[in-house]
Amino acid sequence: ELYNKVLELKGNIRVFCRCRPLNTEEINGGVSVAVDFEASKDGELTILSNGISKKTFKFDAVFSPENNQCDVFEETAPLAISVLDGFNVCVFAYGQTGTGKTFTMEGTNEARGVNYRTLEKLFDIIEERKNTHRYEVSVSVLEVYNEQIKDLLVSDSQPGLNAKRLEIKQVGEGGHHVPGLVEANVNNVREVWEVLRTGSNGRAVGSTNANEHSSRSHCMHCVMVKGENLLNGECTRSKLWLVDLAGSERIAKTEVQGERLKETQNINRSLSALGDVISALANRSPHIPFRNSKLTHLLQDSLGGDSKTLMFVQISPNENDLTETICSLNFASRVR
Ligand code: ADP
Ligand code: MG
Repeated sequence: ELYNKVLELKGNIRVFCRCRPLNTEEINGGVSVAVDFEASKDGELTILSNGISKKTFKFDAVFSPENNQCDVFEETAPLAISVLDGFNVCVFAYGQTGTGKTFTMEGTNEARGVNYRTLEKLFDIIEERKNTHRYEVSVSVLEVYNEQIKDLLVSDSQPGLNAKRLEIKQVGEGGHHVPGLVEANVNNVREVWEVLRTGSNGRAVGSTNANEHSSRSHCMHCVMVKGENLLNGECTRSKLWLVDLAGSERIAKTEVQGERLKETQNINRSLSALGDVISALANRSPHIPFRNSKLTHLLQDSLGGDSKTLMFVQISPNENDLTETICSLNFASRVR
């Protein structure tokens, strides 16, 4: 049975699908692949079951395991220009743990991801525009875990700073702001790299299992840009959010208790709140439920209106992950 699920994209929401490669263990174990890459062209992704084409999903772009960080960034780079032109932008990676959300956003030292590349591009354009524009750039790095905001640029040797609860405040008409959050000024890519490293190290601190913790929290970078056009004196303020979401996998409530149950409920709640907000925006609903989670409340200025949103749906090619893969693809389809 072949379904054609066309993502009719409205407004400023784009959805990219990226599939990670099989890892050594999977190759050695001889697992079946559930994605038909031959058939996956022009933004179409075909899912296989028992070797038979089953379902096709349509995206703005599909990246197969052969695509590298450069290929992905080529399609993402225009957002850097939008930010400098005064638009708010939000980029996030959604998917099951182990599908490459962190690889896409943060990347590795050798294969840097969207976060670093976007900021690098930002500074390239700032340099190109230096005779006509002045820009100031600052970066905050935070984590939302169990509906609590933690500043990842504050080291644990300054526990007092993280002990006070960080809350979201609305300033004036529009902007949302977290008073007390560190905003690190960055003047060049070298400083960007330092801030990103500090934030990444902060994420691992204070948890017995760093990987497990990072899969249960949302890691968020907020890049704030103040711009001035020297020719006409026009000023802009814009915000770019880069978000590595918590793992979307369903954890059976019967399997967990206590803290883990609360954690699971908070993840499910914030991811479904995100889905609700995006689908409300796509359907031009009069009420957008931003306040239902810390995640959507933080992103409020960069979702909807004339802001631009890019979602990476990360998937696994392993047939054993098919149920989660279908769930993620269906989540992405809600963005219609
Ligand atoms: P997640 O953040 O979604 O839990 P990770 O980004 O940690 O997943 O990815 C899991 C593993 O797969 C990591 O070792 C990562 O380096 C690797 N990986 C993911 N995507 C890719 C890719 N496109 N190319 C190469 N390796 C990848
Ligand atoms: Mg991760």
